[in-house]
Amino acid sequence: MHRVTFIPGDGIGPEVAWAARRCLEATGVAFAWDERMAGEAAIKQFGTPLPEATLQSVRENRIAIKGPITTPIGTGFRSVNVALRKQLNLYACVRPCRSYAGVKSPFQRVDLIIVRENTEDLYAGIEFAAGEERTKQLIGQLTDWSKQPIAPDAAISIKPISASASERIIRYAFEYALSHGRKKVTAIHKANIMKFTDGLFMETARRIAKEYEGRLIGEDRLVDATCMQLVLKPQDFDVLVLPNLYGDILSDLCAGLIGGLGVAPGANIGDGVAVFEAVHGSAPKYAGLNKVNPVAMILSGVMLLHHVGESEAAKRLDAAVAAVLKEGASVTYDLKPERNDPTAVGTKEMADAIIAKMKTVKVGV
Ligand code: NAD
Repeated sequence: MHRVTFIPGDGIGPEVAWAARRCLEATGVAFAWDERMAGEAAIKQFGTPLPEATLQSVRENRIAIKGPITTPIGTGFRSVNVALRKQLNLYACVRPCRSYAGVKSPFQRVDLIIVRENTEDLYAGIEFAAGEERTKQLIGQLTDWSKQPIAPDAAISIKPISASASERIIRYAFEYALSHGRKKVTAIHKANIMKFTDGLFMETARRIAKEYEGRLIGEDRLVDATCMQLVLKPQDFDVLVLPNLYGDILSDLCAGLIGGLGVAPGANIGDGVAVFEAVHGSAPKYAGLNKVNPVAMILSGVMLLHHVGESEAAKRLDAAVAAVLKEGASVTYDLKPERNDPTAVGTKEMADAIIAKMKTVKVGV
């Protein structure tokens, strides 16, 4: 029996999260769900989008599956997703990007893993607004130290990259590659320009790669060149490890390589804690319409199954998803050749088709 915190989220969250939960239950693996609120519903009931009880449940169960959550604009609440990652120290964001037959994309046979550092970089939230007194003081101090001119009306963002967080994420990527039968880890940076921050990330990657020599190929590349190579020859890549900002951008780029956000799963992982969630957001305009694609969330469930050691069930659910996508009949609007195809099915019906397929699908075919 696996105890899992179940966070439906808001917007399209509950629809896709329940689709994933039903698929997980249909594998026959026993789950004890601990349903907890976050997002808009939690604000109404608890006055906060991330109640302590939800956090406590994830801390205790150590595994959660979460629907997307809207970041309210103009309410003063920061992103629940960022807060959750910070509170639980979920330092690694893992996003597999794999081509499935039947999902339209100009690219075939893509099979790569993005491992993104989640805690620092320009996303650490250390920002200074243009024109504020402390920003002016900072500009004065920085100009003095660096001897570089900074426009007096500039806003400033700070980019912390530490040796410890770089080592932690790079080691995670190498260990992930080993345990998942991968061959190569590519560290991504812009060390030719940002010699201290990205330079530190690159040096750390080179040092750690040496420890894995003979078991894994370790290489590093510039982020701009990598973007071009990814759209020319995505098959050249295996596991990519990136600081936070590049990781965010390249995750979406790679989701595009495999047909879009509807099929891109993910996980945020810390020491002994893992939260599984789709890459996509809460798409509020589709909320409650039983319309959106549940696959990204269901594949996040496949990752959860692997994580808890239920690999046979994981492979069976993945094979059922692959078969339904390949047949192309019981799929949502975004997976049909034309967006207004009247044969498109709803979120729930696509999950039903995947559940039915699990009974007959041959794993590995
Ligand atoms: P989004 O991913 O919610 O939606 C962008 C577009 O992508 C949608 O309009 C839709 O056309 C398409 N799309 C997304 N998911 C789909 C699915 N499952 N099936 C079919 N099409 C799908 O991005 P957004 O509009 O930028 O963000 C909406 C809200 O979600 C914001 O408040 C944002 O902060 C939040 N968000 C949350 C998470 C998370 O919870 N992890 C992640 C990203 C964004």
